[in-house]
Amino acid sequence: MSYFLVLGAGMIGVSTALELQSRGHVVTLVDRRAPGQETSFGNAGVIQAEAAEPYALPRDLPTLLKYALGRSNDVTWSVSGVLRMAPALWSYFRHSAPARHRRIAQVYTQLTRCATEDHAPLIMAAGADNLIIREGMTLVYRDVRALDAAAREAERMRQSYGVSSRVLDTGALKAEEPALTGEPAGAIHMLQSWSCSDPGGLTAAYAELFRQRGGRIVEADALTLSREGSSWNVYGPDGGVSGEQVVVALGPWSPELLRRFGIRISMIYKRGYHAHYHAPRALRRPMLDTDCGIVAASMRGGLRLSSGAALVDLGAVPLPRQLGYGATKIGELFETGPRIDEPQWTGTRPCMPDMLPVVGPAPGLSNMWLNFGHGHHGFTLGPTSARVLADAISGDSNDLIASLALSDR
Ligand SMILES: Cc1cc2nc3c(=O)[nH]c(=O)nc-3n(C[C@H](O)[C@H](O)[C@H](O)COP(=O)(O)OP(=O)(O)OC[C@H]3O[C@@H](n4cnc5c(N)ncnc54)[C@H](O)[C@@H]3O)c2cc1C
Repeated sequence: MSYFLVLGAGMIGVSTALELQSRGHVVTLVDRRAPGQETSFGNAGVIQAEAAEPYALPRDLPTLLKYALGRSNDVTWSVSGVLRMAPALWSYFRHSAPARHRRIAQVYTQLTRCATEDHAPLIMAAGADNLIIREGMTLVYRDVRALDAAAREAERMRQSYGVSSRVLDTGALKAEEPALTGEPAGAIHMLQSWSCSDPGGLTAAYAELFRQRGGRIVEADALTLSREGSSWNVYGPDGGVSGEQVVVALGPWSPELLRRFGIRISMIYKRGYHAHYHAPRALRRPMLDTDCGIVAASMRGGLRLSSGAALVDLGAVPLPRQLGYGATKIGELFETGPRIDEPQWTGTRPCMPDMLPVVGPAPGLSNMWLNFGHGHHGFTLGPTSARVLADAISGDSNDLIASLALSDR
């Protein structure tokens, strides 16, 4: 048994706190805000168990040119963002080479395929089953040729990783999604994903479960982290809190803290935006409009539209034009209704250039552990990643430990 501080109460930190607690440790969860208020709050809510391959950077010239010229709604960028991230983007480009990407996917699929199984007991214990929809998700195509290509790709994913899906033509799609009024060519229905109608609510429910099981949640600034003798300390409005071991689970803010301890992390910040709408009809399952890179999902707070990636600095001023364009495009498929008036939400996918999360010991610092960099799938991977980290801490065997530790990359 050991005394742990877990820094960061997003899906990754909360899941880590629960896992360490279940293994008999005394855990204090630290955040500057209430649990689940940042990236884990505003995502598209998909527990994407079928995401066997992480998103590679396209390497073909036409797609790269489309991105460079701002002709894609999936990815946008700012000059300062791209310049600051240039080394990380170059590394991302190299890791996206087909042979390397295939090797990375062999690791990634072992994480994502456990996602729903690992969330399930927490969902039950947290009494959060009312937030979960077990209907998969659809990838909608407007063009028949694109749908055919996607069907071939889905078959490849089935053969390579056992990912199950089915092809829906226009009629079948509209029969299953009566809200659709447009005439898309059809969709690929990915069958294994679950989705959540309130991602921040699920993270908060897990945090409440942790508290009910005896865990402590404390408001403090992780950037005050210091070491005195054998104890790690952080400070907040109510004073200091300490532990023998510390886990850094600060999502996109992790590099900032680690720089203070001499660890340089090269991260790609992929910002996303969301907005809610008073849609007259709910969607049965989340839907990716592949034409504009927007995910539409019916949530507790209304129909949520979430945007693709903007390569901008972490604190850059919000410029939600991907969302605006996407909302217009998706309005061709179904009635979104009026936008709900609320402050513009932004969040940042914390992406590593080699597309794998960092899970394991901090190089050169005893009793510091890392769990961040889950990119597009941190909401999916919380409990699974926590299990791998807890195995690494306790010295249990787990084939994934070597692939995810920072020192081995
Ligand atoms: C638009 C969008 C859609 C997405 N859709 C999906 C999806 O459908 N499925 C999926 O799996 N993933 C999705 N993601 C990715 C997912 O949301 C992230 O990977 C995940 O939320 C990261 O979780 P985290 O716990 O690492 O980070 P966070 O949730 O950001 O948690 C980090 C925590 O650290 C705290 N913190 C930061 N600095 C300090 C400090 N100095 N002191 C104290 N606390 C601090 C923050 O307050 C925060 O609570 C999406 C992301 C975006 C942006």
